[in-house]
Amino acid sequence: SAFDSFGLDARILRGIQKEKFSKPTPVQSRAIPLALEGKDILARSKTGSGKTAAYLIPIIQSTLRRKSEPSYQTCISVLILVPTRELAVQVTKTAESLAAFCGQDIRVENLTRKEDDKVQRARLADFPDILVATPGRVSANLNNEALSLKDLAHLVIDEADLVLSYGYEDDLENIAKAIPKGVQTFLMSATLKTGLEILKGLFCQDPVVLEL
Ligand code: AMP
Repeated sequence: SAFDSFGLDARILRGIQKEKFSKPTPVQSRAIPLALEGKDILARSKTGSGKTAAYLIPIIQSTLRRKSEPSYQTCISVLILVPTRELAVQVTKTAESLAAFCGQDIRVENLTRKEDDKVQRARLADFPDILVATPGRVSANLNNEALSLKDLAHLVIDEADLVLSYGYEDDLENIAKAIPKGVQTFLMSATLKTGLEILKGLFCQDPVVLEL
């Protein structure tokens, strides 16, 4: 398939095969090579466009690569911010499916579950590679020092227009202060309204804009 042409790890290709994706969708064709080059991406993409795999595939690829380096230190590498618990469940499922053949190299955690603080703290202390969460949960866990994002490599804001409309701005500012410079950022949004300037200002200066 055309997924072969991206130079992906064989374990990811097996995950893609298992999902029965025969060829990349338009947003995937554009975003995957750019993301693998390390570019920040602002994509207009609706649910149903294949946007989730468009960011997950290159992120899993980069994470596998980083983890194979001798200097790699256990950390939370990827933060995926979503507006709702429902989307967190979906994104977590897709990430687990695409990484199904990566074993313990890619561990995914959904932080939006209703659960005891202690349980949540333990999940974070276990350093999942990919953390899926709402901005509110992340911000609260940063404040009580249950979470560190100092080694983050990739940040995704999925359904960014909804994240903004839900009033998460203070939490996003808090998160922006907690992540290192140079984190690769993906802003995925159904619309490209002016509010997105806030997110660009906080997380990326000059993203490649994909309007599909
Ligand atoms: P999304 O836009 O990420 O919500 O994805 C919408 C649906 O498209 C999901 O059910 C995916 O499993 C499916 N999908 C994503 N990428 C592909 C692909 N390359 N080929 C076929 N289906 C896909």
